Amino acid sequence: MTRLALCGGVYSNPYALRAFVEQARARGADRLVCLGDFGAYGAEPEAIWPLLVDNGIECLAGNYEVAIGSRQPDCGCGYADDADNAYAAIAYDYTLRHTSEQFAAWMRTLPTERREIVDGTDVHLVHGSTMAVNDFWWESLPIEQHRLRVAASRADVICCTHSGLPWISRFGKTLVVNVGVLGRPANDGGRNVWFALLDLEPGVPPRAELVALDYDWAAQAASIRAAGLPEAFALAVETGCWTTCLEVVPPLERSRGRYQLYKSALPSFDAAVAGWPDVPTTADDGLPVIPLFGSALFPPRLWVYTNFHCNLACDYCSVASSPQARRREIDRATFEELVDDAVAEGFRELYVTGGEPFLQPDIVDKLLYASARLDVVCLTNGMLYQGYRRTQLERLAGRSRLVLQTSLDGAEPRSHDRHRGRGSWRRALAGLDLARSLGLPVRVGMTETPDNADQVEPLRDLLAARGVAGRDFAVRPLVRRGLSATGIEIGATNTVPELTVTADGWHWHPAAADLGTSPDFLLGGPDVAMAEAKRRVVQRFLELRQADGSLPVVLNCAV
Ligand code: SF4
Repeated sequence: MTRLALCGGVYSNPYALRAFVEQARARGADRLVCLGDFGAYGAEPEAIWPLLVDNGIECLAGNYEVAIGSRQPDCGCGYADDADNAYAAIAYDYTLRHTSEQFAAWMRTLPTERREIVDGTDVHLVHGSTMAVNDFWWESLPIEQHRLRVAASRADVICCTHSGLPWISRFGKTLVVNVGVLGRPANDGGRNVWFALLDLEPGVPPRAELVALDYDWAAQAASIRAAGLPEAFALAVETGCWTTCLEVVPPLERSRGRYQLYKSALPSFDAAVAGWPDVPTTADDGLPVIPLFGSALFPPRLWVYTNFHCNLACDYCSVASSPQARRREIDRATFEELVDDAVAEGFRELYVTGGEPFLQPDIVDKLLYASARLDVVCLTNGMLYQGYRRTQLERLAGRSRLVLQTSLDGAEPRSHDRHRGRGSWRRALAGLDLARSLGLPVRVGMTETPDNADQVEPLRDLLAARGVAGRDFAVRPLVRRGLSATGIEIGATNTVPELTVTADGWHWHPAAADLGTSPDFLLGGPDVAMAEAKRRVVQRFLELRQADGSLPVVLNCAV
């Protein structure tokens, strides 16, 4: 049997390369192989050469060696984004300046791929892929893309590096091993780096294993800082999260990491346009990148539909609620679990809605639990504050983190009652006044339609006279979802995601959370964990954004 230890992407990290040699030998490797990219990010390119030669590591030239060896002006990494290229240029210029002519000449002697029979197994060693030296062979590529790369070789085993993320997969009879890189962690929050072991034996299927490698990452980070290279390079080593060269990473892989976007790609949002009481601001932590979640593009606000049945049957209800609607109730234990998860996952606001939440006998207990932990807005039509419910409502007085939001579609009953039913405007206003009299903070949302646009200012005046003003009065457009046959069209390409949970599962946006009428907004069923639902939002956002490179338009259709 022959055991190969395969590494790649050393990125001028001699500390990891030494650990690789030690670990490969400890694991009984017969041969040590490096698939290229000796330089980038790190500060000690010249230190790599003696480690490779003195330890008998068999080497391929990656795109870096091709470029450095012939003193090209660019690393040829294959990035398409300007910000990615800017950081790649810093790393490459530094490496070029700190690589001796002798080392560069040695690079020129290296092959860019190698094919050999090892113990009866046809092995193909490449840098990027079988198609190009700087090809990114990601695990998430479509199957036809994998097959294309396998068909270009048809070896029993193909080993590659370059993309930076390790994986093993079998396509037909071919085993493909992306061995990962030694130079920086795999964007998973761990400080270790990766290499692969490949066991080859006559008459036995080849076996591969990815090995997590601990090494002196603190020394590598200190070396980067001492050289004056970007702080982001050192932080990637220290945190295990990629802080540059992210745009090239596909949505699935990028959604698993901590950062997704360059700050420079983030538009500024006007709070009035966005329609949020507090548009999330991006902290200046010195990094060029941000996580999507927590930014204005994916606000830390969770919507919970406690139920879908309603005492009203508004003819433009975007989630098709009515007294006959399938109830889809979330019980108290599940609700409290969601609140706990929301806190743990970093949500800062909870919007509780329905249907009519006050049809649930335990809604006050739910709101008490939630508002002790998060800022809570409960959307209610305000018409059920009588008898037992009024007594219950009194328990909510004095909750500093709770707001009751009620819909009023005009300063007079006409337009409101036309869509929501006769007498509903007066009862909603009475509910609003009752909540205020109990000392409960209130907010009003108005659904604007072509026939009530003239009511915005009169309603603003009516509410101001009651002390409901400023951000406590929001006007939202009618959306064409649910029962509404008119209104603006919304989809995942023109809404900022606001994660929404119902008894049916997870949804992209609260204005389209009814599975029956908006199946296109479903992210996953109720068995999906909140963290995974967040990740799916990020992946979908990146997929949609990458379709044309644009960011979504913000529509304040859910306040
Ligand atoms: S719009 Fe609100 S009040 Fe009207 S049916 Fe839908 S959930 Fe009920």
